[in-house]
Amino acid sequence: MLRIYLDNNATTPVLPEVFEAMRPYFGEHFGNASSIHHHGQETRAAVEWARDLVAQLLGCRASEIVFTSGGTEGDNLAIAGLTSAGDHIIASSIEHHAVLHACKRLEETGCDVTYVPVDGRGLLDPDDVRRALRPNTKLISIMMANNETGVLQPVEEIGEIAAEADLFFHTDAVQAAAKIPIDVAHIGCDALSISGHKFHAPQGVGALYLRKGTRLQPLFHGGRHERSRRAGTENVPGIVGLGKAAELAAQGFERRDDQKLAALRDRLERGILSHIDEAGVNGDGAVRTPNTTNIYFDHIDGEPLVIALDLKGLSVSSGAACSSGAIEPSHVLTAMGLRPDRARASVRFSLGKQTTQEDIDFALELVPETVARLRELSPAYRKEAVSS
Ligand code: PLP
Repeated sequence: MLRIYLDNNATTPVLPEVFEAMRPYFGEHFGNASSIHHHGQETRAAVEWARDLVAQLLGCRASEIVFTSGGTEGDNLAIAGLTSAGDHIIASSIEHHAVLHACKRLEETGCDVTYVPVDGRGLLDPDDVRRALRPNTKLISIMMANNETGVLQPVEEIGEIAAEADLFFHTDAVQAAAKIPIDVAHIGCDALSISGHKFHAPQGVGALYLRKGTRLQPLFHGGRHERSRRAGTENVPGIVGLGKAAELAAQGFERRDDQKLAALRDRLERGILSHIDEAGVNGDGAVRTPNTTNIYFDHIDGEPLVIALDLKGLSVSSGAACSSGAIEPSHVLTAMGLRPDRARASVRFSLGKQTTQEDIDFALELVPETVARLRELSPAYRKEAVSS
């Protein structure tokens, strides 16, 4: 059966070039990058090669890159590492759970957190951030791109607010990195987290940009790896993969791959909306990452739609979470003011470097017929159809 993958915000396939770059570091080049002998020097050189490439992708110095195990660690390291008990933190209500739950944990240990709302497009108002400032505010953590809708936040304006108030600004750029150009100086952030598996590097590796001179309390205690910012023997193959994926992403921007991806996404979006009524884009009207569209299909639930599409060979996702056996609507969509039933009726389609026109054609054939079939089975839809 043909299988099409449109869930690249969940994870992406490792590109063949990335895998080839990593391969020698599982075998012949196996040294510990902290060893001073030949074997160690070989892997140390590879780690520093990768650090340069990641730094180039983000527009920073190599020494400002801390390798991590991924986005969750980078978010936790920045949030816990830049604050202490008694501090006030500002985050948005649509952050990933890696940020929200890190903040919740700090609330239990003596920090106060303000969660800034978003409007119907999923955008926060920088003035709300300004109004939330307190004398003890230490950190603002606002994501660059939302994982469910792709909506981009006004991070440059927030960077200015943080600079004026002389406090730390961390941005979770896990869903932005390699999809849109990033320049940390332009954003004005002190910390920025990225994750390899969201842009065709392997799972379990990422990086935190930490502005030169920013002191942070590490999460792990041990050796003096990563300039004492992250103890633990480096994951050399993963780091090499991250570096290679960063290099390929930079080359992709030169070829305008992001615009080609946006054209494919727009074709999918328009095609779906022109064939299905009572459907719409969540985050419409806001600037979004080129690969993401989140669409509601009124009168059905997203979860059965995801399952029905999967049975026919298309992998997509719904932001709903299963909690105690009940389907909870996505916190991102409800924060945008969607009714719970519409939030539950939403599905995310996210494209990747490997997505083709044929993949989009397949989705355009499958989604309208599947939505129509599920609506026919929906008593609420049938009742409405009879009465209208
Ligand atoms: N932040 C955002 C916005 C994400 O989308 C994700 C993963 O989905 C994470 C953080 C966590 O990243 P990781 O899976 O690398 O821990």
